[in-house]
Amino acid sequence: MPKHSPSTLDPRSPLVLDTRDLPRRPGAMRPVQRVVPAPADLGVELIGVPEGADLNLDLRLESVSEGVLVSGAITGPVRGECGRCLREINDSMAVTIQELYAYENSTTDATTDEDEVGRMQGDLIDLEPALRDALVLTLPTNPLCREDCPGLCPECGTHWDDLPADHSHQQIDPRWAGLSQMTRTEE
Ligand SMILES: [Zn+2]
Ligand SMILES: [Zn+2]
Repeated sequence: MPKHSPSTLDPRSPLVLDTRDLPRRPGAMRPVQRVVPAPADLGVELIGVPEGADLNLDLRLESVSEGVLVSGAITGPVRGECGRCLREINDSMAVTIQELYAYENSTTDATTDEDEVGRMQGDLIDLEPALRDALVLTLPTNPLCREDCPGLCPECGTHWDDLPADHSHQQIDPRWAGLSQMTRTEE
């Protein structure tokens, strides 16, 4: 699905960088330091950046012969659910970005795939696809509230932390109670 169609970049969008200030002369640089609201659905199934949370961009734009190299770090809070006990997880993430965005109609534009090298649209760069890709690699697919989370008792759903060490459902299982009674009657 062409979700990031190059025809619709909005310069006011929080993850779109405007490079108008950056001279198109190899070696020219501009720092980008700003806090922007996170877009929706940024993350993986069980953990991600809450929509609207503060994303800290600490980036550097550098002119190269065929485009702009964006490098630096993006940090922000993540919220999720423990894969074992379903408790809420509040954590933070940091991803490093190093992406080349080719000028429109450059040789790179003509000779590479859009999957390999990003594309600029005029002076605009859309950081969102690179951030999403980096986050998928950074965030755990099975997040845990703590590394040794014991999870829940499969019988009663209570967290093992809240149960005594000898917690067991063996003695009070009614099926076994009935069975032992039957055995006795037959004797
Ligand atoms: Zn847990
Ligand atoms: Zn139990």
